[in-house]
Amino acid sequence: MNGGKVMITSKTKKIGILGWPLGHSLSPLMHNAAFTALDLDYVYVPLPVQPENLAQAVAGLKAMEFTGVNVTIPHKVAIMSYLDEIDPSAQFVGAVNTILIKEGKCIGYNTDAQGFIQSLTRRNVTIRGKKAVVMGAGGAARAVASGLIQNGIQQITIGTRNSLKAQGFTGFFPNFKNLLGCNWRDSTFTSQVKECDILINSTPIGMSANEKEELPILWENVNKDATICDLIYNPPMTAFLNSAQIRGYRIINGAGMLVEQGALAFELWTDKQAPRTIMSNIVSKYM
Ligand code: NAP
Repeated sequence: MNGGKVMITSKTKKIGILGWPLGHSLSPLMHNAAFTALDLDYVYVPLPVQPENLAQAVAGLKAMEFTGVNVTIPHKVAIMSYLDEIDPSAQFVGAVNTILIKEGKCIGYNTDAQGFIQSLTRRNVTIRGKKAVVMGAGGAARAVASGLIQNGIQQITIGTRNSLKAQGFTGFFPNFKNLLGCNWRDSTFTSQVKECDILINSTPIGMSANEKEELPILWENVNKDATICDLIYNPPMTAFLNSAQIRGYRIINGAGMLVEQGALAFELWTDKQAPRTIMSNIVSKYM
């Protein structure tokens, strides 16, 4: 970097994001702004890779001496078989979202789980001993549940449109006994929502493509003191969060998780403290 301008030379360290399709990822903007702010000679590039080319892509990253990458949909689980080491953070979640390439070895980490937790703790939300309800049973729900379990949550209920997927989810965390899966139309879900301290949307309902759909929440049944979270950051205010805010609930959108997972990855690659405010400003500006 030179006076705030990106100057790429043969010495510049290369970072990227592997996914397919990459769509509107904010990670390149967020990380390049962070490198510039700290005057670090790094560049972050989009790396769209089709699933059938994933093994070659990982070999290519080593051959081209990348320093690391982020990994996103649909590669987060599949990539694990091509790595040299899996850090416990990724083992626990069962997915990798960050790779550090060190001495020719690809090491897989997961910063989504801790990123979600930090987005809560920065807003003074207590996790230890509390009860959470998560809507959705996909990859992000798995990271959320991992983070909550590792930070002392007492109980988690997973609610989905498909009871089998919710029940199957419990198998990911065999050592955590207070994990319940149910259909979000069941009475069990209603009673858990009444008691929960943290209610989290981990489905895409609320994104522009799913604008017409609504989450099946009856607000009169939700604990008045619960914190309401949506992992979606675009739009920053979903219909779900808006309904919660009107009723006086504390709300948290997905922008904090995006920034925190990115900041933790940045710290793995650079060994420097991430400039979170700059990263957060970029996300707010472009989302
Ligand atoms: P995913 O693996 O595809 O899982 C999505 C989950 O939502 C599944 O349980 C799916 O159920 C359910 N679902 C999808 N469409 C639905 C609909 N129309 N009605 C009811 N349920 C529906 O996706 P993901 O990776 O977990 O991501 C989930 C959300 O989190 C996305 O909006 C994503 O943008 C957001 N996210 C945010 C961050 C962040 O940093 N803030 C990070 C990761 C993800 P089925 O299995 O029945 O399809």
